[in-house]
Amino acid sequence: MRIKALICNCKGLSPSFKNSDMNTLLFDIESDLDVDYAIAHPQLCGMGGSRILEDALRSAEDDPDTFVIVGACEPEAQLRLFQKLFCKTGFGQDRFLPVDIRGATNGEILERLGDKLRECVQPRERPR
Ligand code: SF4
Repeated sequence: MRIKALICNCKGLSPSFKNSDMNTLLFDIESDLDVDYAIAHPQLCGMGGSRILEDALRSAEDDPDTFVIVGACEPEAQLRLFQKLFCKTGFGQDRFLPVDIRGATNGEILERLGDKLRECVQPRERPR
């Protein structure tokens, strides 16, 4: 199983993202969660951010063991914003894990990402 973590800073302007420190968050994610890598972008739904996400999805479109977890706005909004990328790449939405990180501190973001991974990934890895 491989996990790619992409974190959005919502243009670096939204007050909803002011409680986190993006400089230390990526290190925290890579240290505390079992991810391949973590990256941040100031606007994942913008031109450059979409291309990075597309690259991440495309590189894993045929690998059922790779999950992409995205910390950004609310999950429903992410699914709407990134819908075109799912169609373009063929990446299965069941392996896309959107997490709302608005208003959260680094510790809270780690907790939310960890909860999502436990909920969505580990049950598949550890059949009872
Ligand atoms: S993906 Fe969501 S959180 Fe990121 S810039 Fe777009 S609206 Fe803001």
